[in-house]
Amino acid sequence: MKLPRDARALGMDRAIPRRDFLNGIAIGIAGAALAGGTSSAAGIPEPQAAAGATPVDAAQYPPLRSGLRGNYPAAIEAFAPLQQGTYRQLPTSTDSGEKYDLVIVGGGISGLAAAHFWRRALGTDQKILILDNHDDFGGHAKRNEFHYNGRTFIGYGGTQSIATPFPYSYAAKRLVEELGIKVERNSEFNARGPLQRLGAATFFDKEHFGEDRVVAGTGRIPWPEFFAKTPLSDVAKADLIRIYGQNPDYMPGMTEEQKKAKLAGISWQDFLLRYAKVSPDAILFLRGQGGRNNKRVDSTPALEAAERGSVGFNGLGLTFPPEFREASYSFHFPDGNASIARLLVSRLIPGALPGTPGMDNIVQSGLDYSKLDVAGTPTRIRLGSTAVRLQHDGDPDHATTVRLSYLRNGKVETVTAAGAIMACYNSLIPSLIPELPAKQKDALAYAVKVPMMYNNILVRRWTAFEKLGVSSINSPCMLHTGTSLDPGTTIGGYKGVTTSDEPIIVRMTASPNKPGLPRKEQNRAGQKQLLSMTFEQYEYEIRSHLTRMLSGGGFDPASDIVGITVNRWPHGYAYTYDTLADPFVPQEERPHVIGRRRFGLVTIANSDAGAAAFTNQAIDEAHRAVEELFVRHGLT
Ligand SMILES: Cc1cc2nc3c(=O)[nH]c(=O)nc-3n(C[C@H](O)[C@H](O)[C@H](O)COP(=O)(O)OP(=O)(O)OC[C@H]3O[C@@H](n4cnc5c(N)ncnc54)[C@H](O)[C@@H]3O)c2cc1C
Repeated sequence: MKLPRDARALGMDRAIPRRDFLNGIAIGIAGAALAGGTSSAAGIPEPQAAAGATPVDAAQYPPLRSGLRGNYPAAIEAFAPLQQGTYRQLPTSTDSGEKYDLVIVGGGISGLAAAHFWRRALGTDQKILILDNHDDFGGHAKRNEFHYNGRTFIGYGGTQSIATPFPYSYAAKRLVEELGIKVERNSEFNARGPLQRLGAATFFDKEHFGEDRVVAGTGRIPWPEFFAKTPLSDVAKADLIRIYGQNPDYMPGMTEEQKKAKLAGISWQDFLLRYAKVSPDAILFLRGQGGRNNKRVDSTPALEAAERGSVGFNGLGLTFPPEFREASYSFHFPDGNASIARLLVSRLIPGALPGTPGMDNIVQSGLDYSKLDVAGTPTRIRLGSTAVRLQHDGDPDHATTVRLSYLRNGKVETVTAAGAIMACYNSLIPSLIPELPAKQKDALAYAVKVPMMYNNILVRRWTAFEKLGVSSINSPCMLHTGTSLDPGTTIGGYKGVTTSDEPIIVRMTASPNKPGLPRKEQNRAGQKQLLSMTFEQYEYEIRSHLTRMLSGGGFDPASDIVGITVNRWPHGYAYTYDTLADPFVPQEERPHVIGRRRFGLVTIANSDAGAAAFTNQAIDEAHRAVEELFVRHGLT
């Protein structure tokens, strides 16, 4: 990529940890190469031991890898040939001779939970193999670490919290408790210190609003006062002040039922433009906002927006049943739900983590990746292994074994198992098992996962944020709509950040889409965008965006940014249905329900199978998939 003229001023030539890994091998430090140096030569310390652990480097310890992570290129390079049928016919010579009671495709929370449920029921001597295409387990629940100036900074590359708008099932709740997590203790660990005094802001960019301007006080100061400070046109300001206040009834003469029926079929944006008569300029302010599943103002059904209490609807006289919520069912580790994945691994492979860790010590427990896949250990986790084909030995209804082939280091290997659980992505399963009934394959292919990024940028101080009085900034029209300070959680010896002269992780989130298209098309466009950008392009975007927002506070991208990890997830959230994008179908006929039917010795887990992007769903689907396989084995 030819770097733009301001690249050097932005610090693109600085040596920071941003290694790109290809097939698990470091291919260089981009900035170091530009600067003609290495990280240590540039004064950046070599990775130190994660507190309490033996010395590690990124080659042995995946959380320390930076650069392009998430669904990084090498992890997903087999997906396209897989979907094109390349691995449909495989020679028997790939057989490794390994035999298992259960093979699980996918080492995310769902796959790990499935192994846990299986062992809990049938015993810890059951032979289980878990395959994952990434160089780390956890799926979306990924840990990112930076080691800087002798201190470890832990962030989350995906799944952030145990949090849900739905109550956890008994199975999910019991699992969380078995792992030693008491969610009600959350407040003990989240003292934020001076950060609590800072608030939210909005960044108006010059491409859409005529000039770059950060306006602090979003949601904190009265809306008329807030909008007065923005570069919006007078008309847009007046419209926004109106809809953020008490609205009149924009649908007079309609009954509540008629209003709800209408709102179910139009977007929040359509409602604001057509009924509330706001100007298109005003919509730009709302572009980064939306409903469930990372939907935006133009893809969120107006009824869903109204139910969520979004602006514009409070004069319609609509009533909604109160949403059922369990009290404070939310818990955040500094590495998000990667700690859940680690706790699961500590139970599945006791040698990988010392002792039986619980919530108080899991974050600091050293994890030995070399113990994950050791011959003779009942449960094995094989990373860097992409499943490419699953076949029954005979008719699926009567077969007693399956053969699972996967690609590792460019070679196909095949194992045999008495059953398989697909805890991977629904959209790949038809290519892995082309013998599935056509209706089931169509159903599995229905959903389009939500493209997302959770990017972690280590900065050496956050005085610029403090000076501007902000801890989070919404940029409605930029690639990264969210920027926030992530002070971490003070737990089990790990210390969160409290003062502005300490380094801190700045989290930048994105959910790329294409406003105006139907939702699934927007998801596809966003996936394409994420897959087409190089790390350097992401880095440039991040540096320039941060500079445009924070230079007023004295931010210097070249010296302040000391590490960047891009977690791109083209295969992000599981898709959920709504009244705008999906036809009404009775529950039992919904694509995810048809798609997850057992097929011979294969059952289907993963949050896609529950059409809900939550950890509890991933656990529930694992539980169901295990139960279904028990039924097939006559074990109930
Ligand atoms: C950025 C982000 C933030 C999130 N935040 C939250 C949150 O705060 N709270 C919450 O409850 N949920 C959150 N979620 C939702 C999250 O998806 C679920 O909570 C949960 O982690 C999903 O687990 P899973 O095992 O079902 O799927 P995944 O985590 O996707 O795991 C599936 C695994 O299977 C692997 N796989 C796929 N195909 C193959 C193959 N052919 N061979 C081998 N392996 C394969 C995948 O690479 C992946 O590692 C978030 C998701 C994202 C993307």
